[in-house]
Amino acid sequence: MDHKMIKVEDTGLSFETNLNLERMDDLAREMIIMVGEDVTREGLVKTPRRVAEAWAFLTRGYHQTLEQIVNGAVFEAESSEMILVSGVEFYSVCEHHLLPFFGKVHIGYIPDKRILGLSKFARIADMFARRLQLQERLATQIAEAVVEVLRPQGVGVVIEGLHLCMMMRGVEKQHSKATTSAMRGIFKKDARTREEFLRLIHTQE
Ligand SMILES: [Zn+2]
Repeated sequence: MDHKMIKVEDTGLSFETNLNLERMDDLAREMIIMVGEDVTREGLVKTPRRVAEAWAFLTRGYHQTLEQIVNGAVFEAESSEMILVSGVEFYSVCEHHLLPFFGKVHIGYIPDKRILGLSKFARIADMFARRLQLQERLATQIAEAVVEVLRPQGVGVVIEGLHLCMMMRGVEKQHSKATTSAMRGIFKKDARTREEFLRLIHTQE
């Protein structure tokens, strides 16, 4: 894959992408025309390029790997108490409508001699969120990544998300907040561990 760094002018952000920005620019221009707009009017002239760069950013998780993100932040530890990282913000794009969904991820795990630097959990969540996603799969992928990196006694992931595809399209507003979870190891087998995790999440709110 041919990766290159791009710098997005309106955010000042630099990141790696292998997206063909020229092709994305063409697609965005075509879409603007298709909805009946005049792509040459002042407010829209630079929009195709901005859209291309925005999509490069929103899908940059495809170009990241777990190894890069963890990058040696696994430490030995004797603790076998539950560790909770709650309220991690995420922003993703639903794969059914290409509209955003966003919310909070809560991750709990019970280590087995190994722990991971706390900031890495947010980065793992972000890597998977910056792809076309389903909220259900996002929870599963985060849980499995923690299993892969730490081989813990167990891990639980709960995600609360608001889906613009439901909120903006009108009819199903009552289902707009979705909660999904993935439990592995002792979190799956032992109801008391799972309940402790769920209780801890709610006391943080
Ligand atoms: Zn959707």
